[in-house]
Amino acid sequence: MDQLLSSLSPEDIARFGETPAIRFAENLQLVQQRIAAAALRSGRKPEDVRLLPVTKTVPAHILRYAFAAGITDFGENKLQEARDKREKLDDLAINWSIIGHLQTNKVKYLTRFATEFHALDSIRLAEELNRRLENENKDLDVFVQVNTSGEESKYGLHPDDLLPFIERLPDYPRLRPRGLMTLALFSSDLDKVRPCFRLLRSLRDQAAQRHSGITKLSMGMSGDFEAAIEEGADIVRVGQAIFGARPTADVYYWPGLIPAPDEKTA
Ligand SMILES: *Cc1c(COP(=O)(O)O)cnc(C)c1O
Repeated sequence: MDQLLSSLSPEDIARFGETPAIRFAENLQLVQQRIAAAALRSGRKPEDVRLLPVTKTVPAHILRYAFAAGITDFGENKLQEARDKREKLDDLAINWSIIGHLQTNKVKYLTRFATEFHALDSIRLAEELNRRLENENKDLDVFVQVNTSGEESKYGLHPDDLLPFIERLPDYPRLRPRGLMTLALFSSDLDKVRPCFRLLRSLRDQAAQRHSGITKLSMGMSGDFEAAIEEGADIVRVGQAIFGARPTADVYYWPGLIPAPDEKTA
């Protein structure tokens, strides 16, 4: 295995340690234990909650160690970054999930390799995805993103617009709607974060009556995944708790994100 893995630069070692595969495997185990405990606390089975590891900003050669640690689902926020990594890791059997905003002119790159998309938030995008998928004779699992925090973020449907949106999804038969996705309020105060999760859950309950595919909740990240599970999350998207802190500011991925008054966007 070691020969398959490239040597580590001093920067790699500073960020990921001398033995990234061991570190990732240990972190993964800890996160899975925390997921299991949160699931049991809320009367659910640990195996009913899926962990989607988020690999953004982790370089491709380091992701080989993640794969060696048993991680095969990679969640990426930006399509270009995902494409670059996918090219470099084409020899590995990885499932790529795109979890961030997508521009309609990039759709063709997504449909070529991604197995799911968590940030569907416009009819234009649904149309374009469906058209591309039709050409390629493929289907795609999608989650509809809702803005539950009331922040100015450009991304995600307003809660009031969700049900009319769901009613139109059958027009795009290549999309397989699976559930709803949200980014909660950016705060370390979980009492401010939980209402976002509760709102998504109640929207899911309403949406499920209009589209039988809308069953899952994709919510919760490193800072709040246990609270998300307690509020009903089926999929948690976790990056930093597995791969360590990111060097980039979060606003790069979530433009328009306004931290709560007492927070910094590190
Ligand atoms: C980066 C990201 C996550 C994971 O955030 P962490 O703090 O690394 O756990 C989850 N969801 C989306 C959409 C992201 O871009």
